Amino acid sequence: MADRKAPGALEVVTEPDFEALVIGAHPDDNDFGAAGTSALWVKQGKKVAWVVMTDGTEGSEVPSADDRELMLAREQEQSAACEVLGVQAVEFLRFPDGHLRNTEASRKAVVKLIRKYRPRVIITHDPTQHIFAPDPDEKPDETAYLNHPDHRATGNIVLDAIFPAVGKPRSYRELLAEGLQPYRVHEIYFYMSGQDNTYIDISDVIDLKGRGLQCHVTQFGPEADMVKGIKEWSAQTAKEAKEKKGLEMEHAEAFRRVKLYVPKKEEE
Ligand SMILES: [Zn+2]
Repeated sequence: MADRKAPGALEVVTEPDFEALVIGAHPDDNDFGAAGTSALWVKQGKKVAWVVMTDGTEGSEVPSADDRELMLAREQEQSAACEVLGVQAVEFLRFPDGHLRNTEASRKAVVKLIRKYRPRVIITHDPTQHIFAPDPDEKPDETAYLNHPDHRATGNIVLDAIFPAVGKPRSYRELLAEGLQPYRVHEIYFYMSGQDNTYIDISDVIDLKGRGLQCHVTQFGPEADMVKGIKEWSAQTAKEAKEKKGLEMEHAEAFRRVKLYVPKKEEE
């Protein structure tokens, strides 16, 4: 730990501006993982912003589809979904879909956004979650789900941005001139994690979550009933909340919640 009282030492900002910055690899990841929690917090008067790391250009089964047209269509769908949910801002970083790497460029881009929004909570992919696979003896007809490399890369980029770069006065010093001060993130919520410890009751906003997903027409087609599908999934998560934590919810989102900074309680 460096000397915080050294002459010229810069104080790290701990006061958040936004409640949450939700960072997903592709347009629609944040919708599945945290649209309910986002809409709920917005309803409570809090500020929420979303980030999409990649350009989404591998999100089609048509090899001849035009990259730029697909990117713009998916960004429009994501913006429309954010409008449904009430999310106040959405940022598109446009790294190439399917090829996201934890590089200097991707990390710096995320550091900039975290310092810009100063979120109390960052919601993102769990980079340690690689393989979701049921026991083949218990469930012989079920197949495994391999977590997308862009999802894992996003989780790693975000973690490496949060520590140490976002809060370090000597990291990315050129950002200070843009008013982007070192900042301390309070908590991380990982979605689609195998180690959930936190359940958010999204029953009041479950229809918004479904309607947001419905905006992603390039992904699910114009006929898909995303409201019905997402209700089944979130009801299943609520069942888990009951089993694991004894919580009564109709619809839930699950997270692995990690605390990084607890503000000191004010003196009485
Ligand atoms: Zn994805």
